[in-house]
Amino acid sequence: MAFRTSDNPGHTGSWYAASANDKRVRPALEGELTADVCIIGAGFSGISAALELSERSYSVIVLEAERIGFGASGRNGGQIVNGYSRDLETIAGRYGRDKAIELGRMSLEGGNIIRDRVAKYAIDCDLVPGGFFAAFTDKQIRQMEEDKAEWEKHGHPGLEMVSKAEVAKYVKTDRYAGGMIDTLGGHIHPLNLVLGEAAAVESLGGRIFEGSRAIAVEPGTQPVVRTANGAVKASYVLICGNAYLAPLMPEIHGRMMPVSSQVMVTEPLDGALIESLLPANYCVEDANYILDYYRRTADNRLLYGGGIGYGGNDPKDLTGVIRPNMLKTFPQLQNARIDYAWSGNFALTLTRIPHMGRLSDTIYFSHGDSGHGVTTTHLLGKILGEAVAGHAERFDVWASLPNLPFPGGSTFRVPLTMLGAWWYGLRDKLGL
Ligand SMILES: Cc1cc2nc3c(=O)[nH]c(=O)nc-3n(C[C@H](O)[C@H](O)[C@H](O)COP(=O)(O)OP(=O)(O)OC[C@H]3O[C@@H](n4cnc5c(N)ncnc54)[C@H](O)[C@@H]3O)c2cc1C
Repeated sequence: MAFRTSDNPGHTGSWYAASANDKRVRPALEGELTADVCIIGAGFSGISAALELSERSYSVIVLEAERIGFGASGRNGGQIVNGYSRDLETIAGRYGRDKAIELGRMSLEGGNIIRDRVAKYAIDCDLVPGGFFAAFTDKQIRQMEEDKAEWEKHGHPGLEMVSKAEVAKYVKTDRYAGGMIDTLGGHIHPLNLVLGEAAAVESLGGRIFEGSRAIAVEPGTQPVVRTANGAVKASYVLICGNAYLAPLMPEIHGRMMPVSSQVMVTEPLDGALIESLLPANYCVEDANYILDYYRRTADNRLLYGGGIGYGGNDPKDLTGVIRPNMLKTFPQLQNARIDYAWSGNFALTLTRIPHMGRLSDTIYFSHGDSGHGVTTTHLLGKILGEAVAGHAERFDVWASLPNLPFPGGSTFRVPLTMLGAWWYGLRDKLGL
């Protein structure tokens, strides 16, 4: 199937790239520059850190190998999902109640950072409130009830269980047994969000270079980051390349695995039709291990994501898994044309908990939001900025969490993880 492409060079052929508000290409780094902080990667993590530091009057240079938002940040489902890829009860069981309380205290902050920045810098990114978590089975509903009770202990005021009869208020399908809404969730055009935040960094004096892949990081009290045609000497280097970082810094990228997910977007649908499918305009994510996620776009398309590729390979058939899933959810869309389809990589850690830390006194990193990164990258980017500014208390909470390498090393980590995912996927299919 031939999909539409965009006139936005250097990006994947996504609907986001085609509908970006700002298609300006920033220059590549030429020559030697100095800054207080050099950040590698212009996704949500890097740009969030850059904005925090620029607001604190640090001089910042961001080096982006491709384009701002080229990676997961400019390709994702756009769903503002609060919390982490593991629930707070699991975190308490693994790392202790005190750590769960500290992480719980921060767990709504990422969404607030997004809403605050959208308002403060007047970022046009189609921000819409409300998310619906869809359950197929009674077991998934019971899990949501437990999650809700745990969240509420940590102060979440916006969760409400949804009965089977009430599902139609949020999504018109007979697939679900019920679910839960999060009024503090929501959705955005993620590429326009990161572009707006990048413009905010520039308005405060920060410099962003595109087409500027960092090819070496020389440690020291004044570390130096080198690109093909230039270098940046800084007091601190922040590494935010996430799933796209390899081959730079093998000591970091060996701690996470790139995993791909696919997204497709229909043609603009009749207004009454799309409104009947998703009446509340909430985004939807189901509770399966390999989940579907979908939402309306501002121009009345249905954006539908799912599928998974361990190791980060793009499948040849981008819609092969997700179009049949979309039709199971919405058989009414049998004849809807698919205009755009693409794949993107997020970074999975073995623990499914983001990984941040120091490689030296002057080189810090953050990655591994494990599929739920729109809010956590905003939080962790801000925390990276705080740490550079001398307030490392929250950074140290995250850095203290153990991060384990994937079993099987680089050869066997993909098949072993696939085996585990196959098992959990089978349990979902059998409704266990
Ligand atoms: C298809 C898909 C759907 C998703 N849907 C959702 C969702 O709906 N909700 C949600 O919460 N999360 C979602 N996620 C996860 C979320 O998008 C990510 O967790 C988040 O965007 C990661 O941001 P990041 O800045 O850490 O990494 P990225 O956005 O990947 O940015 C890393 C950047 O670093 C650059 N880079 C890498 N190496 C170098 C180098 N050596 N020199 C210079 N630059 C370099 C890359 O080019 C890239 O632009 C999804 C992810 C994918 C892939």
